[in-house]
Amino acid sequence: MLFTTRALSAKKNIALVAHDHLKIALLDWCKANKEELSHHHLCGTGTTGTLIKNETGLDITTMLSGPMGGDQQIGALIAEGKIDILIFFWDPLNAVPHDPDVKALLRLATVWNIPVATNQSTANALIQSPIFTNEVTIEIPNYQQYLAERTK
Ligand code: PGA
Repeated sequence: MLFTTRALSAKKNIALVAHDHLKIALLDWCKANKEELSHHHLCGTGTTGTLIKNETGLDITTMLSGPMGGDQQIGALIAEGKIDILIFFWDPLNAVPHDPDVKALLRLATVWNIPVATNQSTANALIQSPIFTNEVTIEIPNYQQYLAERTK
């Protein structure tokens, strides 16, 4: 597969998602990093996003709740190049009803090579990295080439 590049502007589109047992952890992380997060466009799944908005006052666009399709909405935005960073505190110790959607979201984030943090340590590393504040270029699949090869 051939690759091309995509610029992630300094002001990022950041998606925030946490499973139920990790919501407090993500809320605490958002509170601790409120100033840094306020410089970016934020979106989140329904419950996570609403809690972040209520508890921190950060402006955040909410999708549907994860089990109702919110993970899929965020995945679709990633495929369209409209999400630059994913902070996803998924729960490794409890089953969720929408496990296929969780896998799909993580899969698409990997396909489109966006920076992803799935736990607090990595979220800390990411928010302290130049990726968070500077314009950066990432490699992404060259979709036009991919399609051309499959249709010739
Ligand atoms: P929620 O969804 O923020 O609506 O709880 C998160 C998820 O389970 O993916």
